[in-house]
Amino acid sequence: MAATHYELNYEPAAEQMRVQLCIDTAAIQQEFRLHRGGAAHVEGLKREHGTIERSGEARWRAADWRAGECLSYVARIGLVADSRDRDIGSRIGDTLLVAPQQWLLRSGSDEDEAPRVSVNLPPGYRFSPPWPSSASGAAPAYRITPTPFAWSALVAVGRFHEVSMALPGGEVRLALLGTLTAAQRETLQQWIRRALTAAASGYGELPLAQTQVVLLPGRTPGRAVGFGQSLRGQGNAVHLWVDPAATPAQLDSDWTAVHEFAHWAHPYLGDDGAWLSEGLASYWQNVLRARGGLLTAQQAWQQLDAGFARGRRTAATDLGLTELSDVMHARRAYYAVYWAGAAYWLDVDVSLRRASGGVLSVDEALKRFHACCLLRKRAWDAAEFVAKLDALIGSEVFVSRYRAYAARRGFPPLDGLYQELGLQHETDGSLSLVDAPQAAVRDAIMGRR
Ligand SMILES: [Zn+2]
Repeated sequence: MAATHYELNYEPAAEQMRVQLCIDTAAIQQEFRLHRGGAAHVEGLKREHGTIERSGEARWRAADWRAGECLSYVARIGLVADSRDRDIGSRIGDTLLVAPQQWLLRSGSDEDEAPRVSVNLPPGYRFSPPWPSSASGAAPAYRITPTPFAWSALVAVGRFHEVSMALPGGEVRLALLGTLTAAQRETLQQWIRRALTAAASGYGELPLAQTQVVLLPGRTPGRAVGFGQSLRGQGNAVHLWVDPAATPAQLDSDWTAVHEFAHWAHPYLGDDGAWLSEGLASYWQNVLRARGGLLTAQQAWQQLDAGFARGRRTAATDLGLTELSDVMHARRAYYAVYWAGAAYWLDVDVSLRRASGGVLSVDEALKRFHACCLLRKRAWDAAEFVAKLDALIGSEVFVSRYRAYAARRGFPPLDGLYQELGLQHETDGSLSLVDAPQAAVRDAIMGRR
C-alpha cells in the first residue's frame, strides 16, 4: 500500500497548477496515467532522481522510484477548461471547472490508500473538489476517495462563493459560481438547504458524510433549473445549472435538485441498471419533496401520476426494461425507463408497508444498505443490489418484483395499485385521493417528516 501526497499551487494569471506528487514507498517501476487527451495538459515533468518517460497515449513510467521521492510538473488547466466537452472542462467567468483525470497524474491502483492533497491559493481564490476535506492546518487539505478511474469528477478553481452546510448525516460544500448578487446568493443557498432537508427525509439523514454541490448560472429557458448531474468520481457531487433570477417558489417547484440528491442513496448500478437508479430518483424526487413540505401530498401523487403517463406513452414493446436501459441514450427512451423504474419502487414500497404494518419500507431497506454497504466505492450489479436489500430486511419483494419488471415489455400495469391506494383519475384528468383499503399506506409514504 503506497501513500501518495499531492501539493497543488494555483497560478491564476497563467491559469496553471504547479503540482508536486510524492510517493512514500520505493518501486522498481512507478506508473502514472491520465484520461485520454490528458498528456496535452502537462508540461515539464521532473523527478528528483532519474528520469520519467512516456509509455503510452496518456501514460508515463519511472524506473527505480525511491521511497519518498517527488515528481513535479505544470498542469495547464486553462487548456482543460477550453474543452468543448463540459464533462472535461468549462469556464464560468474566471472560474475554471476541470476534470482532475485530465491533469492530476494518478499512480498505483484503486486499492491504494486515499491520496492526500494540500492546496495553496492566492488570496481571494477558492478550490472546490468532490474530495472529502481532511482539515489539518491553514491550507485546505483533502483525501481523494478511491473510485474507478473512469468515473467523472470536476474541480472548480477561481473566485467564487463557497459555503458549508451541516445537515443530519452529512456536510455539503456548496460552490456558487458566476456573477450573483448577494440577494441571489441568499435565495439559492436557502433553496439548496430546503432541498437537502427534503433529501434527508428519506431515512432521517443524508446518505453521504461529505459532498460537493456546484451551482452554475446559465440560461435555462422556462425552467428554474436547466440541468442537473450527479457525479461519482473521487467523491460525490451534484452540479446544477440554475437561473440566478428564479424566485424561491420557482426553485422549490423544480424537481431537479431533489432528484439528483436522491441518487446519493444508491450505489452505481451500471447502464443496464439505469431503470433502478433513475427509477428510485424519480420516485423519491416526489416523495421527498412532499415529506420536506416542498409539495403537498396531493401534488406529489399528481406528479408521480403525470410521470407514469409519460412513461406509458413512450413505452417500448420490443424490449424488456433491462435491455431498454442499455440503449436508453441511443433511443432517448428516458421517460419509459425512468417512470417504469419509479413504478417498481412504488410497487415494492407499498408491498413492504402493507405486509409489515408499516415497519418495513423502501426507506428502511435503503437505511440498512447505508449502514452496511453504501460507502464501498464500487459499482453494484443491479440484481446483486436488490438481493442485498431483501437480505437486509428479510423479504423477497425486491428480487421478485425486480425479475418481473426487468423482463417486462411495455409499461407496468398500475390499476390494481391505484385502487388499493385510492388514487382515482377524474374526468378532467386530475387525480383524487379517495378512501381505499391502503389509504393509510398512501398517506404514510408522503407524510411530512
Ligand atoms: Zn437521475
